[in-house]
Amino acid sequence: MIEPHGGKLVDRVVGEKHREQLQIRLAESIRLDQDQYQDLLNIATGRYSPIEGFLDRNDFLKVINDMTLEDGTVWPLPIVLDVSNDEVDALTPGEKVGLKDPHGELVGAIEVSEIYKYNEKEAASKIFGTTDRSHPGVRNLYQRDDFFVGGTVFVFDQYRYNEFDLLPRETRVLFEHRGWESVVGFQTRNAPHRAHEYIQKSGLERVDGLLVQPKLGEKKPGDYRDEVILGAYQKLLESYYPDQRTALTVFPSKMNYAGPREAIFDALVRKNQGCSHFIIGRDHAGVKDFYGGFDAQRIFKEIEDLGIKPLFYDFAFYCTRCDGMVSEKVCPHDDDEQIHPSGTKIRELIQNGELPSKKMMRSEVASYIMDAENPFIERKKSQEQAL
Ligand SMILES: [Zn+2]
Repeated sequence: MIEPHGGKLVDRVVGEKHREQLQIRLAESIRLDQDQYQDLLNIATGRYSPIEGFLDRNDFLKVINDMTLEDGTVWPLPIVLDVSNDEVDALTPGEKVGLKDPHGELVGAIEVSEIYKYNEKEAASKIFGTTDRSHPGVRNLYQRDDFFVGGTVFVFDQYRYNEFDLLPRETRVLFEHRGWESVVGFQTRNAPHRAHEYIQKSGLERVDGLLVQPKLGEKKPGDYRDEVILGAYQKLLESYYPDQRTALTVFPSKMNYAGPREAIFDALVRKNQGCSHFIIGRDHAGVKDFYGGFDAQRIFKEIEDLGIKPLFYDFAFYCTRCDGMVSEKVCPHDDDEQIHPSGTKIRELIQNGELPSKKMMRSEVASYIMDAENPFIERKKSQEQAL
């Protein structure tokens, strides 16, 4: 089995019985929003190994400038906890402060090591390659509070997002149990169409097992709702995938839309889950035209020894002459023979009550989405202008 990133799977779940020994200052707890809470759980259960807490200033600066932690380990996205002016006054480095989930329940603690200010414009331009507020990742960063608090964390219980939320040590056991020595991971935020299926199966041809792992959590209006992505994949897998070579689990995390950096991040999380290979298609984790179609593939060529092998794919499409799914690499025919299963096109069809062609989406999947109530995230009033 492949080693976790940094060599050791982080485990910061301490269990209720050790809670007293930790001597946590409860009076000054920090209440987390959903994204921060999910980051806390991902740190504690090893998805973000080797990170053991929210980043200190030096790690933060190294991550945004050089894409590594202070010790040189590759790490592309800052995992940070922002706090307001009021909260900062109550925090003292060296103390353990309670962390509450979005409902106000105490779920863990942070041993505060540092509280620091950051330059949001600089951070945005380094992480996202732009300071444009129409980029949803930039907008999210600008909405953060003024200070970051760094420190190692503890959680009392390994809460799960849903029944598909298998922790890294659990997927590792699953892979071993199934005898998979090599596993290819697939990241998605969409309901599957035929091109996704083609790419996943092309990847599976090269290894023992396939882990389909949608990222669930905050997305932008118009994207599929979490339940619909999962339901659609269940429909696809039960009809078209070999049960003993496929696993469906989730990675609960917001979409950052950070393009190339998020591709590295996605790969490292899957490495921690036990994947040996990871699929990078066109415009991975991109948004609008902020990144070039192959930027996310190029970045892997610049980093050595990531410990997980990227598998690169271009668009796949249905060719009427070949009479099947192909890519430019294997099909010699003209453009007018190509039927591209575009996500946007499929969404439009479904919204107009039309079933997409079988050449774009499996009919089991398309009918499931058509029958789902509100398959897409609705636009909030406050977001209308920004988008
Ligand atoms: Zn062809």
